[in-house]
Amino acid sequence: MTVFGDSPARNLVCRGCGTKYPLAAQHACYECFGPLEVGYDADALARVTREQIAAGPKSIWRYAGLLPVGADASARVTLDPGFTPLVRADGLAAAIGVRGPLYVKDDSANPTHSFKDRVVSVALTAARALGFQRYACASTGNLANSVAAHAARAGVPSMVFIPSDLEPGKVVMTAVYDGDLVAVEGSYDDVNRLCSELTETDEFEKTAFVNVNIRPYYAEGSKTLGYEVAEQLGWRIPEQVVIPMASGELLTKVDKAFQELIEAGLVEPPANGWKVFGAQSAGCNPIATALHKGTDEIVPVKPTGIAKSLNIGDPAAGLYALEAVRRSGGWMDYADDGEIVDAIRLLARTTGIFAETAGGTTTAVLRKLVASGKLDPDAETVVFNTGDGLKTIDAVSGLVGPTYRVRPSLKAVREAGLID
Ligand SMILES: *Cc1c(COP(=O)(O)O)cnc(C)c1O
Ligand SMILES: [Zn+2]
Repeated sequence: MTVFGDSPARNLVCRGCGTKYPLAAQHACYECFGPLEVGYDADALARVTREQIAAGPKSIWRYAGLLPVGADASARVTLDPGFTPLVRADGLAAAIGVRGPLYVKDDSANPTHSFKDRVVSVALTAARALGFQRYACASTGNLANSVAAHAARAGVPSMVFIPSDLEPGKVVMTAVYDGDLVAVEGSYDDVNRLCSELTETDEFEKTAFVNVNIRPYYAEGSKTLGYEVAEQLGWRIPEQVVIPMASGELLTKVDKAFQELIEAGLVEPPANGWKVFGAQSAGCNPIATALHKGTDEIVPVKPTGIAKSLNIGDPAAGLYALEAVRRSGGWMDYADDGEIVDAIRLLARTTGIFAETAGGTTTAVLRKLVASGKLDPDAETVVFNTGDGLKTIDAVSGLVGPTYRVRPSLKAVREAGLID
């Protein structure tokens, strides 16, 4: 038994040099300063069965046996996210020239309308077990929404740090929960640096910054997206996945989830493996640029453009995202603001899903990958929509609106040409 009860997690492992540490509030290696990741007992993972998972709740917690925080539901800090729709997207496929089955994993259906509820539920459940008394984060927007909401549900104080130029929807969706909200006059990377410094102060000793001092637990929550896609496909790994990248963490963890499902004997290894594709915006493309240049050197950028939730100029997991994409035989690309807006509208009219700018970015990149031949149009593909269009309504509000405007009379409707 650890502080995390019956969890299969056993230690923290350095992603750089492999040094192991006990499960605690630590995120960097003392030997090489590399990032730490949760390590599991392979035998414990192998004991998890499909039947156990199927009998579990319709949330990320059906995968508790594959997560670092244990099965005790009363110990959780959670909005019970997950089990979001996997939508067959034949109309989108036809529009962009995909012939194989195409699905959208629609994570806008989570409680605070982005995939971040998954990572926050795991991180804050760990934070509670580790004795933290205040919940915090450095956010590009969606994480702020989710941390503030989780803290409100748990009755724990929160302090959320955001860049001061965030979309109004994201600011309101955080502020409404009534925690402390700190708008920092700088970029996300400035906010993140400030939060790293704050974790070192006495005043913040009991504050869990979900994506800073307890980041290894936070990152594990992303695996549930991979588990869910495989379960929803009937316990199969899709041939191709297209995933948005900010820090690059989500992409690496979906890939890790697929590997774990095979190791745990929950899915058959696909004959031809799976290919992982990454999406960024033209205004913030440091990982995709490194891939295109064939280098491991990720040069930080100063982000611009409307895909603000993906605007991390110095991506913490960029190197691992590059590794996963190269190993799998996938690719990365980026889309400009005009392409992102077009893709939001294309996704909406072909699937009924209204995505935020991150989902527009991923859909736009899917389209480019098909056009450039990097993505196989005959293979099975899952594209991830990670956030809700209501959060970034400005992206399309000037472009769409009522088709007709009429006075409330039959005569007016007739004059408008709606009936003969
Ligand atoms: C945070 C976020 C991502 C990706 O995050 P990573 O840092 O790469 O894990 C993708 N989409 C949305 C909408 C997000 O908020
Ligand atoms: Zn190390």
